[in-house]
Amino acid sequence: MSFRLASISFLLGSLATGVTWLTVQPPLVRLLDAIQRHTPEGSPAREVVAQVRALLPYYLGLDLLLMAGLCFAVLHLAIARPLRRTEEAVEQLSRLELDLPLRPAGGPLLSRLERSLKRMADALLAEQALTRRQLAELREANLKLRRAQTELVASERLVTVGRLAAGVAHEVGNPLSGILGYLSVIRARAGQSPEVVELLGRVDGEVQRIDQIVRGLLELGRPARGSPGPVEVARIAEACARLLSAGPDFGAVEIKMELEPGAVAQAEQGPLSQVLINLLLNAAQAMGGKGAIRLAARRQGERIAIEVEDTGPGIPPEVMPRLFEPFFTTKAGGKGNGLGLAVSRHLLSAMGGELTADNGERGARFTVTLPAV
Ligand code: ADP
Repeated sequence: MSFRLASISFLLGSLATGVTWLTVQPPLVRLLDAIQRHTPEGSPAREVVAQVRALLPYYLGLDLLLMAGLCFAVLHLAIARPLRRTEEAVEQLSRLELDLPLRPAGGPLLSRLERSLKRMADALLAEQALTRRQLAELREANLKLRRAQTELVASERLVTVGRLAAGVAHEVGNPLSGILGYLSVIRARAGQSPEVVELLGRVDGEVQRIDQIVRGLLELGRPARGSPGPVEVARIAEACARLLSAGPDFGAVEIKMELEPGAVAQAEQGPLSQVLINLLLNAAQAMGGKGAIRLAARRQGERIAIEVEDTGPGIPPEVMPRLFEPFFTTKAGGKGNGLGLAVSRHLLSAMGGELTADNGERGARFTVTLPAV
């Protein structure tokens, strides 16, 4: 850039000097000749004129140098420097760094170009903010879509499982009742052998477990039972908490109630109690029987929201998408069958309600919403 600038300056300097020389030199030479002619031979003035004539080519060279230097300085300040800054601004734009300095640095020649660059950067900045916002909205929508898809898959699976279960459960239910009956007869006749009593206890436990699974499956297949009516949520919630607080999982669990007295939901008492018991039991088990559960109910516009929030470890991200899948459980040792949340959601949706899960301040938070009365 500097070399090119120097060449152009030299060219312009030569041109200017050439033009000056061509216009000024003939009258000047003529003037000097006239002075020389009218000055007596051997006088000092004649000597000076002769010297000036001899020096004229050197003045020309000096003129050329001065003109080239001047052109270089002007071109550098007026064009090269602003151009370099503009180039830097364009490069900054190409790196999508859009916060260009407010004051144009290009001087009068390039200030219009810089102003339009600044306008372009501002427009790009606005466009970038819009794109970011749209991207965030898109991500949110995507997340919702994926959640809805998971729920759809889970509910489809529920319907299939429910249909299957309805058929199988009747067939399995009768022999199961029989087995339980025979077991109690055998226990009565087993006498005092502790080994047999213990084995019978284990068989009984396993059969009870099968019975529970079959009941759970039956719930999944059952269509809406009665017609929902006005239910005072605080009363049901208190009853469920009272029922569970004496149980083995609630030894060191404190249930903090935040129940709005006027919260009346359009629901069925039995299924709603079953859902709350499920959620409270899950919370107590997640905390290992030690901690606090917040049980809150309040009216939110046209809905009643019931929250069960614990101080346990929360729901891990890998568990979250599978939470409501039938038979999904992380509880080891046959403690869970993975039907609790699936059945709860099924029961609630039959009443026009919803069940959602997220992580609260410390542990997991399950939210039931029902139509308000
Ligand atoms: P189950 O209790 O038989 O495992 P659920 O459907 O009730 O079946 O629960 C499914 C899974 O959801 C549990 O195994 C557990 O991993 C997770 N879960 C449920 N409630 C909580 C909770 N309060 N905190 C953390 N994880 C939970």
